[in-house]
Amino acid sequence: MLKNKVALVTGGGSGIGRAVAQVWAREGAKVVVSDLDVAGGEETVKLVRAQGGDAIFVATDVGKAADCEALVNATVAHYGRLDVACNNAGIGGPSAPTADYPLDGWAQVININLSGVFYGMKYQIAAMLKNGGGSIVNMASILGAVAFANSPAYSAAKHGVLGLTQAAALEYSAQGVRVNSVGPGFIHTPMISGLEADDGVRAFLVGAHPIGRLGKATEVAELVAWLSSDRASFVTGAYYPVDGGYLAR
Ligand code: NAP
Repeated sequence: MLKNKVALVTGGGSGIGRAVAQVWAREGAKVVVSDLDVAGGEETVKLVRAQGGDAIFVATDVGKAADCEALVNATVAHYGRLDVACNNAGIGGPSAPTADYPLDGWAQVININLSGVFYGMKYQIAAMLKNGGGSIVNMASILGAVAFANSPAYSAAKHGVLGLTQAAALEYSAQGVRVNSVGPGFIHTPMISGLEADDGVRAFLVGAHPIGRLGKATEVAELVAWLSSDRASFVTGAYYPVDGGYLAR
């Protein structure tokens, strides 16, 4: 599905980003894994190579525009082009109601979860236009469509990712760059291990998904891989939940 494509993922050292790297590689892509977490990113590269794939690691802080530019440059320097990107890196941030929400937590969540997607696309699109197009998949959340109490920054950032995705799709689809976002429900990854550790919270979260369980990172990665590929050639500017029915309630 992705043979000869060069694909980069941010936040590829853990959870959903790692699964995206592995599914992309299974489908034949050459993968650039980037993350703030060097050990996690290098582990993902090892896993991809162990399954017979081709991957490199580039340390990147998506909250810094210069890092996002350097990541695209490193990709093109190593593999000669960029066809696919998944702007996936993100953090949960503090948990507090809006009036009590810490200012520094707000700035950090918006910087990583929203500005980081903008910085990523800014340089990825320029590189993709040089080879006639590409596909970008931005990692939103169900919280890009509805809110979660005590997560105002996260909810706002993920709603912003949907708008940013649509704006870029309007601007670049005619030039061959498709831009979409995906909205995972609660997925079993290190990001939510704190929530899952509390039996009551876990039961509440499971109950919010009509399918009766939390999701797996690979279930998100399969959707990302399809959107990344030419099989999704008429899909752009869209938001795809992958949420076990969470938004259908
Ligand atoms: P995860 O397991 O915590 O993985 C996120 C990765 O991103 C980590 O390796 C993390 O590194 C890295 N990262 C954090 N800040 C970064 C930065 N500034 N620059 C580069 N990398 C950075 O979380 P996940 O669940 O896979 O989440 C991936 C994406 O899916 C996020 O955008 C998240 O909002 C979204 N999502 C997750 C869920 C869920 O339930 N898990 C649901 C909906 C959407 P460190 O470990 O060093 O921080």
